Amino acid sequence: MAKKEKLHCTFCGREIAENEITLLGVHGEILCDNCAMSIYNYVGSQIENIGGYPPYDVVEKSADNKAKKGNNKNISLNSIPKPTEIKSFLDQYIIGQERAKRTLAVAVYNHYKRLFQPTDDGVEIEKSNILLVGPTGTGKTLLARTIARMLDVPFAIVDATVLTEAGYVGEDVESLLVRLLEDAGGDVKKAEKGIVFIDEIDKISRKSDNPSITRDVSGEGVQQGLLKLLEGTVVNVPPHGGRKHPEQSFIEVNTSNILFICGGAFEGIETKIAHRLNTQVVGFESAVKTTQIDRKNLLQYIQPQDLRAYGLIPEIIGRLPILTHLDQLSKESLKRILTEPKNAVIKQYQKLMQMDGIELIFNDDVLDYIVDKTLEYRLGARGLRSLVETIMTDLMFELPTKEQDKEKKASTYTVTLAYAKQQIEKANSL
Ligand code: ADP
Repeated sequence: MAKKEKLHCTFCGREIAENEITLLGVHGEILCDNCAMSIYNYVGSQIENIGGYPPYDVVEKSADNKAKKGNNKNISLNSIPKPTEIKSFLDQYIIGQERAKRTLAVAVYNHYKRLFQPTDDGVEIEKSNILLVGPTGTGKTLLARTIARMLDVPFAIVDATVLTEAGYVGEDVESLLVRLLEDAGGDVKKAEKGIVFIDEIDKISRKSDNPSITRDVSGEGVQQGLLKLLEGTVVNVPPHGGRKHPEQSFIEVNTSNILFICGGAFEGIETKIAHRLNTQVVGFESAVKTTQIDRKNLLQYIQPQDLRAYGLIPEIIGRLPILTHLDQLSKESLKRILTEPKNAVIKQYQKLMQMDGIELIFNDDVLDYIVDKTLEYRLGARGLRSLVETIMTDLMFELPTKEQDKEKKASTYTVTLAYAKQQIEKANSL
C-alpha cells in the first residue's frame, strides 16, 4: 500500500495531524487549525481596534459601528482635556521643561478646538504646528509621544534626515503618512486627526541664510516638500506596504488637521541668538536688558528670526508658529528622571527583579554616580538607561537563580556605589 503523503501547513510549516480541521487555498495551500485560529483572533482584534470593517476605503460606512463600540481613537471636543489637565498628565512622565509643557498644552488644546470650530462667523482659527528646540535627549520626542498617548490619537515619528537622503519629497513624505495610517489601523479619518513628530528638522537647514552664497539645494528641497504637508494638503499615500499592483489605488490623506510637532537640537543656534541679542540692545528698543541675559541658557530667548539665520526657510518657520525650547537637563533633573516618572528607569529594573521576588534598592550615591557618568558621556537622559543596564546585567543574570535556590521567598538586594563603579569600569575596559 502506498504511504500516505504528509501534509504541512503552508503558513507555519507544521505537519498536519490526521482529522485536523484545515483550510484549503485555491492554489493548493493548506492552513492548519492553529494558524487559522491565530489569524481569526488577530483580524478580530484589528477590526475591534479600528472600530469596523473594512479598514481603508469604506470608513464612512463603519462610522456607526465605531460609535457603537466607543472607539477610543475618535476625538471629540468634550474628550479633549483642558491645558492644565494636559500639563498635569505630562508632569507624570516628563521632568522639568515647564515652559515647553505649558506651551505644548495650550497649542494642542487649541489645535483640537480648531477641528470643532464653528464655521458660520467668518473667523477661521489657523493651524498651529509646533517647533521644539532643545539639545538631544531632553524630552522632545517624549513630549510628543506622551501627548499622543494622552489624547489616544494616531502617532508617527519620522526623521527629517531620511527625507534628505532620498533627495526630494515624493515617496518619503508619503511614507510619513503611511506610518500614521498604520497607527490608525488603516482608518483614514482617524489618521487625519493624528500627530506626526518630525525629528531633526534642523538637519535640513540651509547652511547659510544667504541663499545666493551657499545654496544647499537638497536641504531646501526637503523643506519645500514639507511645506505643503505642514500647511495642509491632500497627499496620495500608497496602501499598506506599498503598491503591489499598478492598478491598486492610492489612499488620499488630507493633512489639514494633522498636528505636526517638529523637533531639533539646532546645535550652535545660541551664537545666532547671542548675535541678535547683542544687536538688539544696541538698538533703540530692547526686550531683554543685557544685564539680565542669562548667557548660559540662551535658548530661552529663541525667536523665529534665529531659525531663519540658522537656515530654515521663512515659509517653514511661518508654518511652525508655536516655538518653544527645552532646557539642558541639570544634575537634579537627571536624578529625578531616574526615579520619578511613572515608568522611570529605576522603577523598571525594580519591577523586573520584583518578578523574581527580589526587592531591589539603589543607594543614593549610586544614583548620583549614574547621573555624573551620564553628564560625562554627554548623552542626555538617554544615557541613563544604558548605564543602569550595564550595572544590572550581571545581577539580572545571577540573582534569579540564587533566589530560586533559597528557601525563603522575599529578599532584598542593594546596589552599592562600589558595585556600580566596578561594573561600569569593567564594561569600559572591555
Ligand atoms: P529628544 O529630545 O532627543 O527627542 P527623547 O525625548 O527621545 O529626547 O528622550 C530620550 C529618553 O530620555 C526618553 O525616552 C526618556 O526616557 C528620557 N528623557 C529625556 N528627557 C526627559 C525628561 N525631561 N523627563 C523624563 N525623561 C526624559
